[in-house]
Amino acid sequence: MKRHDVLILGAGPAGLSCAARLAELGVRDIVILERESVAGGVPRHCGHTAFGLREFRRLMSGPAYASRLAASASNIGIRTRTTVTAIAPGGIVDIVDPESGPDRIAGRSVLLAFGVRETPRSTRLVSGDRPWGVTTTGALQQFVYLEHRKPFQRAVVVGSELVAFSALLTLRHAKIECAAMIEAGPRITARRPGDWFARLALGVPVQTRTKLIAIHGGTNVEGVEIERAGRRRRIACDGLIFTGQFRPETATLAASHLALDPSTGGPMIDQYWRASDPAYFVAGNLLRPVETAGVAYAEGRAAAQSIAASLAGKLPSAERMIALSAAAPLKYIYPQRLALPLGSLSPLLLKARIQRQARGRLRLSAGGRELWSRAMTALPERRLSIPVSLLPQGEVDDIAVDFIEG
Ligand SMILES: Cc1cc2nc3c(=O)[nH]c(=O)nc-3n(C[C@H](O)[C@H](O)[C@H](O)COP(=O)(O)OP(=O)(O)OC[C@H]3O[C@@H](n4cnc5c(N)ncnc54)[C@H](O)[C@@H]3O)c2cc1C
Repeated sequence: MKRHDVLILGAGPAGLSCAARLAELGVRDIVILERESVAGGVPRHCGHTAFGLREFRRLMSGPAYASRLAASASNIGIRTRTTVTAIAPGGIVDIVDPESGPDRIAGRSVLLAFGVRETPRSTRLVSGDRPWGVTTTGALQQFVYLEHRKPFQRAVVVGSELVAFSALLTLRHAKIECAAMIEAGPRITARRPGDWFARLALGVPVQTRTKLIAIHGGTNVEGVEIERAGRRRRIACDGLIFTGQFRPETATLAASHLALDPSTGGPMIDQYWRASDPAYFVAGNLLRPVETAGVAYAEGRAAAQSIAASLAGKLPSAERMIALSAAAPLKYIYPQRLALPLGSLSPLLLKARIQRQARGRLRLSAGGRELWSRAMTALPERRLSIPVSLLPQGEVDDIAVDFIEG
């Protein structure tokens, strides 16, 4: 079995930025494993211009952004069409590729950067018929941008978080009419200008407090039944796009030895992006459902710093940990553990999200003493950041983050 210094599993923004940063830090023996035939991850099939501002200071289309990331890692070995099928303790990874079949490879350190997957209709419990034309944003983008197909003429989009707007832009690109964007909650999940953008710039009716009741059709979708304020009506359409409800892509991790966090759905990490087995590090959307590509990129680079330190034997040990957990109304918090002694934590932030709209105070305490708090009205899916640099650098027994309503 060949052992490399670093294996990077997944060639999306997190994996590629980690690889490029490791190379800058002088790590040479890196192999990237990617199941698709081309590196770049999700941005490869997001043809619209909504990438790169944060990391490259210019607006780029998804494919241009993906190519730039792949070029930055071009001196590093990328094995495409190689699927990771299992991981084992100590950085051992089982892979399969169509030419050489199953194989085993190892890394002194391994970055997990598998991204997310969308929840398909089959697990959403929507009643009605099972016609063709029901899809997710990712699948729609593959049809439109990679295969240059127009899968339907008139679509309804279900959901209103950030990626739903990616679906609207894709529909516009393909010249598919969007009959409505529907959202069960009282307001859109993405930030407010989003609904103005949908209505005014794209001409899409946005209907909040509206539930999808059933899908109708024979071979193809013919319409959907929706309910608003107790009244039902039918919208004629031949396509239905489910957006949101992402889950970290943990298919290969569920049966592994790594500790997963049921609230994020991804592996637990400490402040060094290190999983419960110190040979493994995690970055990007695998940590929690979807952030922007810029966030995944920054996480990949930050994880590279820790991996380089680990290879040099300079990363603090993972033996003593303080666990953090999210109590309602917080949905989750990560890193889920902090390795002791805390050492230098900057620029890491604890990140949290909330389950439902809540007004109150987000609070950080250590040893029963409040260190920081902020009054806020928090909305579901909004990112909450807690400055860890305020934690005492020495010994601490307990650290708590909570949201006090009222
Ligand atoms: C539909 C959609 C639209 C989006 N639109 C935008 C947008 O407009 N602007 C923006 O900033 N962000 C957008 N995002 C978010 C952005 O794309 C992601 O934040 C970013 O791609 C995350 O990077 P990542 O490296 O964590 O994961 P990904 O980009 O998902 O990359 C993960 C990689 O791992 C590979 N992989 C997975 N499992 C295996 C395995 N078992 N073996 C080998 N390889 C594997 C995958 O093939 C993939 O290449 C969108 C996301 C989605 C899903």
